[in-house]
Amino acid sequence: MTTACAGNSSRQLKQQSLPQHGQPPSMERKSGEPPVQITEPAKTPKLSAGRESVQRENRPLSLADLHHKYESTFLFNGPSGQRKAALTFDDVPDTEYTPQLLDILKQYGVRATFFTIGNRAEAHPDIVKRMVDEGHAIGSHSYSHPNLPRVSDAVFQNEILRTEQALAPLIGYKPRLFRPPYGNISEDQIQWMASLNYHIINWNVDSLDWKGLTADQVSANVLGHVKPGAVILQHGAGGEGEDLIGTVQALPKIIESLTHSGIQLVTVPELFNITEGTKSD
Ligand SMILES: [Zn+2]
Repeated sequence: MTTACAGNSSRQLKQQSLPQHGQPPSMERKSGEPPVQITEPAKTPKLSAGRESVQRENRPLSLADLHHKYESTFLFNGPSGQRKAALTFDDVPDTEYTPQLLDILKQYGVRATFFTIGNRAEAHPDIVKRMVDEGHAIGSHSYSHPNLPRVSDAVFQNEILRTEQALAPLIGYKPRLFRPPYGNISEDQIQWMASLNYHIINWNVDSLDWKGLTADQVSANVLGHVKPGAVILQHGAGGEGEDLIGTVQALPKIIESLTHSGIQLVTVPELFNITEGTKSD
């Protein structure tokens, strides 16, 4: 976590160029031939601050102070009095792993929470709509996945607002759940999110699947740490060089094992009894 210790001196005022969608190349055609329709599948945009395995810091959580200070805004652990837990999937959507995870969740009748990247939602809108149609909760995971404490206020705010604009037409509301990329957010940024009534949702069980682990390793990391109220971090879309097949293959075992032990899998809004968004105009 990079949090309260990120002072203004660490801020860089660099402007980030947001990825543009690739346009299909135009092709010359001979007169008399019908126009050639090129339908390339949309590419999944890269994470602008790099791969999860490069940027993510693996260290024990020390979030209790932030939660204590921003009690209704900064959340990472649901109430322990009920046998409920939430599966959460970051970096979605892509066309490789996200549909496989949705298929498994549908098969088991389990609803999860997907933290969606704005530029990926624009690249794959049908998959975002599918998430909503199948009852999953949607949160924001920024527009281009920067390391937030290192960007300027203007870039940070644009990342949040642009993602709202990308998601609202697809999901029918402006998201009010936010998960910071790599779990990193400064205290100033938390305060700005609070002013917009966002809930920042971190986690207390990390599958570590961003390391490209096997299914057995992923399920052991999850099942070895889940307690009532757990917020479980997994990834639902891969970037370049990221292999999430372990996440996909572990999911049936995770669902079966938790259900067998009497843990009900719910969405983040259900776990915390909060709203996932505000109706867009
Ligand atoms: Zn992420």
